[in-house]
Amino acid sequence: MMGADLKRGWCPSLLRPMESGDGWLVRVRPRAAVITAVIARAVAGAATRYGNGRIEITNRANLQIRGLRPETVEPFAAAMEAVGAADDGPAILVSPLAGSDPGVAAETLDLAAAIARASGLALPAKFGVLIDGGGALPLAGLSLDVTLRAAGGRWLLDGAEVAVEDAAARALALAEVRACAPRQVAGRTDTRPALGFHPYGDGRQGAVLLAPAFGQLQATQLSSLADLAERLGDGSLRPTPWKSLAIAGVERRDEGLLRDLARQIRLMTEPDDRRLGIVTCVGAPSCSRGEVETYAAAESLALSRHEGDPLLHLSGCAKGCAHPGPAEVTLVGENGRFTFIRRGRPGNEAVAHGLTLAQCAALMQSVPA
Ligand code: SF4
Repeated sequence: MMGADLKRGWCPSLLRPMESGDGWLVRVRPRAAVITAVIARAVAGAATRYGNGRIEITNRANLQIRGLRPETVEPFAAAMEAVGAADDGPAILVSPLAGSDPGVAAETLDLAAAIARASGLALPAKFGVLIDGGGALPLAGLSLDVTLRAAGGRWLLDGAEVAVEDAAARALALAEVRACAPRQVAGRTDTRPALGFHPYGDGRQGAVLLAPAFGQLQATQLSSLADLAERLGDGSLRPTPWKSLAIAGVERRDEGLLRDLARQIRLMTEPDDRRLGIVTCVGAPSCSRGEVETYAAAESLALSRHEGDPLLHLSGCAKGCAHPGPAEVTLVGENGRFTFIRRGRPGNEAVAHGLTLAQCAALMQSVPA
């Protein structure tokens, strides 16, 4: 697994680590949308033992473990294999509540499994398939290279109706074509998770959506979440593409308690949390390309923001990993200062270069959205 694959530019996975400023990083994919409590504790333990204890939730709903060393990459993978979490197949983003919420189309997980079984398919590293079965947490507004979406009892493949029995084969055929001629998938315009309780159809049960600040968990938080999922949910954690986690199968009477306990482990639980309007990457020093410390800057900027403020993308460098789409304001790190872009993405025409954080905050206040 090490060797030829250990180079920059790969989309990392469990078996293909990628080097960053704070060591090697790997990703653990949920299987059938789920990270079980057992797997979550194993990830937390291995992230502490073999990495630096920092775990991110990616916008493909993977867990990204940071700070591994060359000699700890293989022990980490072995720890994941021991709990059945070594999945290196095609990247499939499935409705987070599939298998728990009766409102998610019944075929969702079967379609994901059928596509995952097509192991001969050689897809580019960043190629993704999205399967949106609807329900209480639909993936509406998101698209990947190939998108299957349930709509009113039908399945749509990139918007065109497809018979459910043909859906996996048709999606795979389309993936093969697209893999040879990648196209630009429209970026997302907003990534804010709707934190809180999302009831299933009968209203008695549902899922609680929680988020770590800026998508970054500590291993101890992940371990505590596993305990909460077993105590008040169905024992599963479900990473979402909104850099958050859902605890599924929660009784309505328990959702307030669950949120109280989640706040005690420093998770965001309320949809009006001011930090939710900021999307940022890991930045410096953890990413070797980072030109500013993004988390500290994001915490500082959050203090002067209000609920409903337009999206702010704070990017450690011009690559813009955290948010491929446009944002109302994009700040790009440049030699320890910031480039200010309005209604665009990194690389678009800038309003100003070389600003301090205070100057950025003042500019955001002075120019109304
Ligand atoms: S945007 Fe730049 S600094 Fe941020 S994670 Fe990507 S490469 Fe690193």
